[in-house]
Amino acid sequence: MFLALLWGWDYITDPVGAQRTIGLRLTFLLVFPLAIGFWDDDARYRFLGQTMPATLLLSEAVFLEILKRLDSGMIHGIAGFMYAMLIALLAGQGFSLFVAVGYTLAAAALPQILAVLGLADDFPQLRYAILLWPAAGLTVLTQVALADNYLRRYRLEQRLKSLSETDPLSGVGNRRRFMRLLGQEIERARRLGQELSLLVLDIDHFKRVNDSHGHPTGDSVIRHVADICRHGVRSIDTVGRIGGEEFAVLLIGTPAEPAADAAARLREAIESAVVPSTADLPVRFTASIGVAQLSAGDKGPDDLFARADAALYTAKREGRNRVVCLSDSSGPFKQAHALRPLSPEDT
Ligand code: GH3
Ligand code: MG
Ligand code: MG
Repeated sequence: MFLALLWGWDYITDPVGAQRTIGLRLTFLLVFPLAIGFWDDDARYRFLGQTMPATLLLSEAVFLEILKRLDSGMIHGIAGFMYAMLIALLAGQGFSLFVAVGYTLAAAALPQILAVLGLADDFPQLRYAILLWPAAGLTVLTQVALADNYLRRYRLEQRLKSLSETDPLSGVGNRRRFMRLLGQEIERARRLGQELSLLVLDIDHFKRVNDSHGHPTGDSVIRHVADICRHGVRSIDTVGRIGGEEFAVLLIGTPAEPAADAAARLREAIESAVVPSTADLPVRFTASIGVAQLSAGDKGPDDLFARADAALYTAKREGRNRVVCLSDSSGPFKQAHALRPLSPEDT
């Protein structure tokens, strides 16, 4: 039907000349498989989308040849090149702004270049230029505006995504982000046969900090603990605030023992930290940490979390301010760094 419409235009313009344009009009239909490649997500057809701009330029050359074969085709058909600008706008959407604008300019210049090379004798250079170049200018402006709009939306989306996954108080990732990354890292560790450990950290007697020094000081303590965790692990590790005064740390490529050592360093740094209260009194605090290593029997993040939580519970039960490590569901294999918990007077 599309072929009939295109060729019908040729026939109305010049019934005799139209006999020589059927083959050329058929080549126009080449663009359609490319358009499918452009829109289809299937990787098998994506290369067709990549070749689309080149083929559209080719179709312009074919159109110029058609106009040559029709009596007064150059007069009636010159406005047809305007469609190239619409196509440039559409086709350019799949490419960078640089490529899209380059394509628009190439599409506007190509018929003139072909005419200068002597491939279209009676090409109306001036009429074409008056018609096409303002349209090309507007097309480029539209492309810039669309790209700018797209970039703004993209940045906004990224910002919203980051906000939705960041804890506003401490600046570390929130529970949602932590659980997402934990799921991904467990999958990766399984695929690559790597080890992975999880620390779950809870500030000891935090209610007392709030009660004795006020909520704003409690908030400072939370921020401080987050900073200690963030700076106390490698950049490839992930820290998340998973509850009120509870943090989790994911140690990639790390078995239980070095993870317990890392936890011990965090525990020591927390024990040594001093945060000024709103009344300028020094506030000291401790934390208990449960450690668990990913084991073959874990079905997913929840199993690993449950073991780290059980280790944390053991650390709390055994007096707080300590690290307890569970190797697997068989129970604690190591109680590292059991220390004196801070007495209530310390806080
Ligand atoms: P434990 O050693 O057993 O962990 O005792 P705890 O007092 O730390 O534990 P509990 O879970 O009973 O209390 C946690 C407290 O943390 C209760 C809650 O008011 C406080 N909290 C939770 N979120 C925040 C917060 O964002 N800021 C402040 N200042 N306090 C918070
Ligand atoms: Mg808690
Ligand atoms: Mg607590």
